[in-house]
Amino acid sequence: MSDSRQGQRIVCKFGGSSLASAQQLRKVRAIIEANDQRRIIVPSAPGKRDGRDTKITDLLYLCQHAASVDADFSEPFRQIVERFTGIETELGITPFIAEHLERFRADLADGVSPDYAASRGEHFNGLLLAAWLDADFIDPAECIVIGSNGVVDPHTWNLLGERLAAEDRRFVVPGFYGRDAAGHVRTFSRGGSDVTGAIAARAAGAALYENWTDVSGLLMADPRIVEHPRPMEEVTYAEIRELAYMGASVLHDEAMAPVREVGIPVNIRNTNAPDHPGTRIVARLSDAVIHNTQIAGVAGKTGFSMITVGKNLMNREVGFVYRLLGVLEHNGIPFEHCPSSIDSVSVIVESRWLEDRVEEILGEIRRTLEPDDLDFVPDIALIAIVGEDMARTPGIAAKVFGALANDGINIRLINQGASELNIIVGVAPEDYPGAVRAIYAALVH
Ligand code: ASP
Repeated sequence: MSDSRQGQRIVCKFGGSSLASAQQLRKVRAIIEANDQRRIIVPSAPGKRDGRDTKITDLLYLCQHAASVDADFSEPFRQIVERFTGIETELGITPFIAEHLERFRADLADGVSPDYAASRGEHFNGLLLAAWLDADFIDPAECIVIGSNGVVDPHTWNLLGERLAAEDRRFVVPGFYGRDAAGHVRTFSRGGSDVTGAIAARAAGAALYENWTDVSGLLMADPRIVEHPRPMEEVTYAEIRELAYMGASVLHDEAMAPVREVGIPVNIRNTNAPDHPGTRIVARLSDAVIHNTQIAGVAGKTGFSMITVGKNLMNREVGFVYRLLGVLEHNGIPFEHCPSSIDSVSVIVESRWLEDRVEEILGEIRRTLEPDDLDFVPDIALIAIVGEDMARTPGIAAKVFGALANDGINIRLINQGASELNIIVGVAPEDYPGAVRAIYAALVH
């Protein structure tokens, strides 16, 4: 492996909207050329140019599905050809892509897997980009191995690392796909080009993973709820994980692990505002950037349910919580949180797991635990206040609860993780937006 952990190179992943048209591609080129260390480029497939457009990846799935039932796929295929040849022409690349597309049309008619079809969006886009930038094209089907669980296989670090060894070259590694152990093309789940970017950064021992998208970094709260929330300058991997889990959409779920394990920072940037520094995701906050708000952000979700079981002297009954969680396990229901007091314990689950099984599950809890009280709240919203500094800062909880009390919002549950990275409060769904606004106003100035 080219284990140049101290490397200087930057991996730049560009999302679908950054590559949707020749005009966007020109911005991408200017970004790449502005910094000589931007050596490894990971493109998505072209995304939507406007609201009426369809993403190339969606068109590819459509074609494959139609072909698999012997239906006509000429219309979506025509759109794919038009997009790629349009980009090729507008950029003045010596034409070659039509030939690839023609071969692919024949393959589709013969029958290809959905993964193979979908991967062609990134593949063809990568070929065009490599030709235009005079970069080396690396086919991930040769060097990114995806395990049967859909997650990257560690052999990839060596395989791809060797291909990326020449530090003076520029490389294009298409996102979203690799191969399985048997050599068949396989994709990550949707949005998976983020994962490829992280894999390339890890394999190359890059100094930085830049993820170029269409927003100037991450915001401290959902802009649909809080007016003009502040951007996050710097945030830790752990904070991002908590925020993303609570609904803040950031990177693909699996994109953080490869870089986090070796401490490569991630920088979320905006292709349409390249001078904006965006948000840096790091292992530890730099001294210069102590959250002057004491928190990284606020995120939340509706759609949870809470089961509360009360029993006198529960604390002396060995295995009580074990048996309660056993009922959930036995029914295949994952739980999110499990706050407890001396004589009661609650479990919070996503409501979608319960649906029409509520009575059945409550009945089983009654039989198994013989509780004095059993309470079910079908609808609860959870809000996470996240920040590494919270553990060292007294008074944050007081501000949160004070703000909610001032606005007359009833708190249904409170949970603070042992890591003190977050405080979770549960409120009625109708109080959710108001609660987020009150908490944000109290903690962020
Ligand atoms: N093109 C793929 C998708 O639409 C992967 C990506 O864009 O990250 O999901």
